[in-house]
Amino acid sequence: MAWVKLFKKPVSDIGKSYQPGSMVSLALTKGLLNEPGQNSCFLNSAVQVLWQLDIFRRSLRQLPGHFCLGDACIFCALKSIFTQFQHSRERALPSDNLRHALAETFKDERRFQLGLMDDAAECFENILERIHLHIVSDIGMETCTSKSCITHQKFAMTLYEQSVCRSCGASSDPLPFTELVHYVSTTALCQQVECVLEKSERLRPDTFGELLQAASTTGDLRNCPSNCGQSIRIRRVLMNCPDIVTIGFVWDTEQSDLTEDVIRSLGPHLSLCELFWRVADENGRRTELLLVGMICYSSRHYCAFAHHTKTSRWVFFDDATVKEVGVRQSGGEVVPFRNRRAYP
Ligand SMILES: [Zn+2]
Ligand SMILES: [Zn+2]
Ligand SMILES: [Zn+2]
Repeated sequence: MAWVKLFKKPVSDIGKSYQPGSMVSLALTKGLLNEPGQNSCFLNSAVQVLWQLDIFRRSLRQLPGHFCLGDACIFCALKSIFTQFQHSRERALPSDNLRHALAETFKDERRFQLGLMDDAAECFENILERIHLHIVSDIGMETCTSKSCITHQKFAMTLYEQSVCRSCGASSDPLPFTELVHYVSTTALCQQVECVLEKSERLRPDTFGELLQAASTTGDLRNCPSNCGQSIRIRRVLMNCPDIVTIGFVWDTEQSDLTEDVIRSLGPHLSLCELFWRVADENGRRTELLLVGMICYSSRHYCAFAHHTKTSRWVFFDDATVKEVGVRQSGGEVVPFRNRRAYP
């Protein structure tokens, strides 16, 4: 499964992080090694995006302790890479310890095993889930409200879904759930793009959130809960205001001809109100999110793009290779999507 993934965080937090000395400087941006046969690009891309997320990096640093699993401790291995990102003089670092911890942790599931290629989105999601377990091992993923759990405090979208019949007014019981990554089918997204283009000549960049919502709800029709005969759409309500929202694009085929269309639909800004039918949290309703990171998959290889806070530049990570990319716009904004040629 090939996919592209977006990480968003509130503009207000970006503003806050522009204090001198509080950001990683580009000198601290390092590559991660991927020796022949290791196939660690999926992990390296996930780690680079996590490191570049200012909120995540700082929160992890401030955590006082964790339930340690010794040699197989994903938490320790990730923290160790972060420490080396900060203090090492090497331009590229090994990610082997984290790779080993991941392989050891998931050996029963036969996922993320040494030498084998795996899925970067699921790797990213699993690292976050493991961090939750290392911080609050006795609380379930769905019910975690611990203030010290970075995973849930910063990344989790607390949602419920419900279908309400327009014809008879009946509503289904609300179904609560939590998401760390909001997955959207690229086929459904491109169908929405086509619908818009039938009515107007071009896509407005601010319709990205609406396209995503339509793509994740259209076609998902349920019968009316009181069986009046109507087919009704599912509605998803966001209860909280996450700092970081992660969108995972699901591709139906390895070789997709939808890539151009998907890239065209992307917008650098996203409002939570567009992404969900309703946002219950007042901050969530006002929050506008800014694209700060992407993991891309092409030709059986993962690479990542991340927005570098201090320089306001996009940085491209391809294992040991790190490059600054992007076109600086007159407003000081960098549009990463202009740099499609940077894709491997
Ligand atoms: Zn540990
Ligand atoms: Zn948690
Ligand atoms: Zn009905």
